[in-house]
Amino acid sequence: MRVSAEARVDLDAIGDNIGLLRERAGDAEVMAMVKAEAYGHGLVEAGRAAVAGGATWLGVAKLAEALRLREAGVDVRTLVCLGVPGEPYEEAVARDVDLAVGAVWMVEEVAGAAERAGRPARIHLKADTGMSRGGAGERDWPALVDAALKAEASGHLRVVGIMSHFACADELGHPSIAAQLDAFGAMTRHAERVGARFEVRHIANSAATLTLPESRFDIVRPGIAAYGLTPMPSVGTFGLRPAMTLAASAALVKRVAAGSGVSYGLTYTTERETTLALVPAGYGDGIPRHGSNLLEVLAAGRRRTIAGRVCMDQFVIDLGDDDMAPGDEIVLFGPGDQGEPTAQDWADALGTISYEIVTRIGIRVPRAYSGRAV
Ligand SMILES: *Cc1c(COP(=O)(O)O)cnc(C)c1O
Repeated sequence: MRVSAEARVDLDAIGDNIGLLRERAGDAEVMAMVKAEAYGHGLVEAGRAAVAGGATWLGVAKLAEALRLREAGVDVRTLVCLGVPGEPYEEAVARDVDLAVGAVWMVEEVAGAAERAGRPARIHLKADTGMSRGGAGERDWPALVDAALKAEASGHLRVVGIMSHFACADELGHPSIAAQLDAFGAMTRHAERVGARFEVRHIANSAATLTLPESRFDIVRPGIAAYGLTPMPSVGTFGLRPAMTLAASAALVKRVAAGSGVSYGLTYTTERETTLALVPAGYGDGIPRHGSNLLEVLAAGRRRTIAGRVCMDQFVIDLGDDDMAPGDEIVLFGPGDQGEPTAQDWADALGTISYEIVTRIGIRVPRAYSGRAV
């Protein structure tokens, strides 16, 4: 490894995880969620790996992400899940990007853009079935459906899908799951009664894909599981394989005296004469500063806790009487099969979710891809 820190992404693991999710999906198609740089794994590369693994759709949050996929030549069906006023919807239509539409303002904007682009936009009506986040709730639903069907009748839109999102799919048996499925059914029936003809219905995220067969409908939309991380750590890993390994080379190794304070604030003090190693990755790379004196990494064959505060570009570990040479590898997290912590271990220590650990690895950290889909 010649770079100071890198995120190695095993594209075969992404392909295999998609294969596993396809089995869980039954007859439903798989839309791999690749928003936020594919949860830090790299939008275009992970997107291609997911398609190679059998995903027939890609899902993103924002239109700019979909346009980047198109720019890179990825032309699989792609859905933008989060609409914002003033986005270049004409380009979405021209680039054949599907749009989730959860408000009347967006029907109007998208229909206008489609008219200018000279072809109909494909939209998925977004139902708020109980999460109170995006989409139209029960009181706004009839007006949304009505506006969309009118725009469809005038040739500007095609209403191809209906979708929603679970609030608690990762909590087995949570009562909101059944309530959301009921609301989804009722909102689907209402729209169909007034003339909607949906090609696809979809609501399942990773947790639902893995544990709620009745939620699969026509498409499932796994995100975190595609990257090999479990959406339900207390239930299990479901045979998924983590795709990302974060590693760095030791920048400096030195012997220090007993009683030496380490890093900003001197919050760590060496108990004995010891060897410290400097790891060239910090919060500027996405290493959580809350992980100071807390998170473990694998160095010289053993787990070591970060010694003192995580700085912007670097942190220190205490090797005791073990030795390393500058340039030797330190594994911050990975699949866990070589003794390194996993992103889930870091998340547990920090009181967050693995999603945040991998997504926050910054643009300064180069991604190194391996696997057939490279
Ligand atoms: C992110 C996202 C998903 C995937 O969620 P995971 O828990 O990562 O599987 C599915 N649907 C929508 C609309 C999303 O925004």
